[in-house]
Amino acid sequence: MRRQRRTKIVATLGPASGDRTMIGRLFAAGADVFRINMSHTSHERMRELVTAIRSIEAEHNRPIGILVDLQGPKLRLGTFKNDSVEIDSGQDFVFDSNPTPGDATRVQLPHAEIFAAIAVGDVLLIDDGKLRLKATEVGPGRIVARVEIGGRMSNRKGVSLPDTVIPLAALAPKDLADLEAALDAGIDWVALSFIQRPEDIAEAKKVARGRAAVMAKIEKPQAVARLADILDLADALMVARGDLGVEMPLERVPGVQKDMTRACRSAGKPVVVATQMLESMIASPLPTRAEVSDVATAIFDGADAVMLSAESAAGQYPVEAVATMNRIAEQVENDAIYLPSIHVLHTEPEATGADAIAAAARQVAETLDLNAIMCWTSSGSTGLRVARERPKCPIVAISPIVGAGRKLSLVWGIHCVIAEDARDQDDMVERACRLAFKEGFAKPGQRIIVVAGVPLGTPGATNMMRIAFVGSDAGGIGSE
Ligand code: PGA
Ligand code: MN
Repeated sequence: MRRQRRTKIVATLGPASGDRTMIGRLFAAGADVFRINMSHTSHERMRELVTAIRSIEAEHNRPIGILVDLQGPKLRLGTFKNDSVEIDSGQDFVFDSNPTPGDATRVQLPHAEIFAAIAVGDVLLIDDGKLRLKATEVGPGRIVARVEIGGRMSNRKGVSLPDTVIPLAALAPKDLADLEAALDAGIDWVALSFIQRPEDIAEAKKVARGRAAVMAKIEKPQAVARLADILDLADALMVARGDLGVEMPLERVPGVQKDMTRACRSAGKPVVVATQMLESMIASPLPTRAEVSDVATAIFDGADAVMLSAESAAGQYPVEAVATMNRIAEQVENDAIYLPSIHVLHTEPEATGADAIAAAARQVAETLDLNAIMCWTSSGSTGLRVARERPKCPIVAISPIVGAGRKLSLVWGIHCVIAEDARDQDDMVERACRLAFKEGFAKPGQRIIVVAGVPLGTPGATNMMRIAFVGSDAGGIGSE
């Protein structure tokens, strides 16, 4: 099975998409990577989801990526007696350290750090900024706040304090436990929420020890300010527009999205554009014009992936939402302006063998109108460098390591195939030809380009490029 687009789709799983049948439908509709949000998922449930995804993967014989999203130091309210309350503008409301369920006058704020850090006059935003309060009295374990914009508050809604610097570690004890459980379950990507500094990435990498790739969610102004250093350490970035739009003025978010896309493309690391992409499809089978345009913008910029959150996790139309993204991506990528648009952000190859070969492979493939760039990659890094070139023809990454294929399922333009290691260079070319045929990328008589590091398995040793005909027996009949 082969997708007819380069941009990848990440679908978040949740109550609307928890069973194997539904996950299978989302995959069939176009989801390449599934995201499990640990803010709302138990370890047991996470393991069930991983099992279901792996069984769909085996059924289709295609590597599927699993992204586990850690809650991070997200500040949340406690709970309410009746799950939610309505508070009015102008009233006073109390946040305290008392775990008793709250009411219309008070609620627990289960983060001792806030009480120590907040000052009179600081703003508290609740539920993605829908409610706004200002602290009028602060003391140990208690904040009195005047409600400036009222509304409904419910259990464990998020709290942001844009004026307050709160000393928090990137990985809370819950995140460390979730990370260990996720690594144990064999997931591929871990996303870190609310990171502020490059050290936060280093800390997670130390725990992950290569067992999963690390994606930094950029959702705080502090992280935007240190983007380059964070990108140096992270394996991918997510433009987490939900919280970013709470923590900084909304009108700055599109510019940050463009900057992040450019930085990631230049670094050759995947970038995921996330949140509210098809928000109205939570409750409607059709998106708005503006949403379609928003998804198209990310695709025209050459982002690696677009993401669905509540649309696929908790909405009424999860399959339709994935199918809609799939259709938008197919259409945009067929537009005559697509390749010229994404190439505006193209940057020169770095001075490495891998980049030189990747750039040359793209050029040869385009000059000769070849059908695919077949690239043998054991860690996935050659695949990433070829994808960085954003070539016109499909990229097929062949790896003997299933985890590498699963990670690459997030990356622009890459179709991953898991295959046994090649014996030698001829075997590599021969098998690449067979695979190109079998996976539907080339017919007998058509040509492909094969890229590899020889001997295979030496990281960073991309040094070989060969043009080959796909033979009439669907084997390689020779090289030019
Ligand atoms: P979240 O992250 O869905 O975990 O909040 C994405 C975002 O903030 O946009
Ligand atoms: Mn977020």
